[in-house]
Amino acid sequence: MSEEIDKNFILHSYARNYVNFVRGEGARVFDDQGQEYIDFTSGIGVVSVGHANPRVTEAICDQAQKIIHISNLYLIEPQAKLAKSLVEKSGYDMRCFFANSGAEANEGAIKIARKYGEVDGEPKRYKIITLKHSFHGRTISTLKATGQEKMHHWFGPYPDGFVYAEDLDAISDMLDDHTVCVLIELVQGEGGVAPQDKKRVQELAALLRSKDILLAVDEVQTGIYRTGELFASNLYEIEPDIITVAKGLGNGVPIGVVMTRLKDIFQPGDHGSTFGGNYLVTRAAYEVLEILEAYKNSGGLDEAILFFEERLRRFVTEYPDIVEKEVGLGLMRGLRIRSAELLTQLVDNAFGEGLLVLKAGRNTLRFLPPLTISKAEVEEGFVRLEKAFAAIKV
Ligand SMILES: *Cc1c(COP(=O)(O)O)cnc(C)c1O
Repeated sequence: MSEEIDKNFILHSYARNYVNFVRGEGARVFDDQGQEYIDFTSGIGVVSVGHANPRVTEAICDQAQKIIHISNLYLIEPQAKLAKSLVEKSGYDMRCFFANSGAEANEGAIKIARKYGEVDGEPKRYKIITLKHSFHGRTISTLKATGQEKMHHWFGPYPDGFVYAEDLDAISDMLDDHTVCVLIELVQGEGGVAPQDKKRVQELAALLRSKDILLAVDEVQTGIYRTGELFASNLYEIEPDIITVAKGLGNGVPIGVVMTRLKDIFQPGDHGSTFGGNYLVTRAAYEVLEILEAYKNSGGLDEAILFFEERLRRFVTEYPDIVEKEVGLGLMRGLRIRSAELLTQLVDNAFGEGLLVLKAGRNTLRFLPPLTISKAEVEEGFVRLEKAFAAIKV
């Protein structure tokens, strides 16, 4: 019934699986038939402190009873508090602008870079370099910022000024008088869970700084402790000029942030958002950060990462016919599968066993579990994954 309504009234832009989830708890979700699933996706890296997290639910309910929205024409106290918390925990000297999604945060980053490159109202420097296998969003300009050629069909004309580098090494030769910014993910998520090399990233950051070209890091997927530190930029020990955040920050409430070292780049009227950073989402996100900081400081997060990693590695040695290698960082992990067909079979088999997993790139089995996943949930998830692997006939 619901499937029919969905098909009749929702545009068909997703290849949906028609399971009907009705509730979740921690890293488990339940469908309308009472079937339980272990969630190794956290809704594509969003539900970082688990489904129906009591502290986040409490914050949302409390705020909803007081005030949800007033617009950015007035002070929004939880927004200010969240910005202070994000900036102080990051260790970077920055200010924040609140948006509603990852793509929108990246739009903000693009506007900051373009304004930085403008002199006396002229776009003196406007070029933004991104990587071939990147993913930066679905709006017209973030699609164009996304380097994957296959994403550029249908929707042109696109805004000018985006150029693509094969990899980090190719960037230095591409810098010219019109280049204002380089935008990268430190671990490409959609591109296949591919971490960049730390030393290369540090060299690039130094080179860009010496040429007064901005370094923007898209931390929409890597941010909020996903790689083990608040930001992957912290892990890579670099100081970006711009950082964008979204997915894991709100545990499911829609929130995006662009943070920048260029603290005075915007004047009133330069950028805006009706919903961005309202009471509801910023109260929820503040709670998420508090939970995760305490979890990190207690050693719990590092322990969870080690535990997950150790279990995942077994699949590389046990199934060499299916798995090429293990990739990723922190709780952003993947197994490179030997073919796209095998990958599809694995995802389907896992679902049949009651385990949610993701695909990335052409042939990567991707894992983005809630960061607070328990050892029992990890164990159970891998028991189910084992069954999904065992059912494959190579
Ligand atoms: C998911 C993602 C985006 C887009 O975020 P939306 O909230 O879907 O707009 C942008 N960049 C990266 C790296 C992402 O993983």
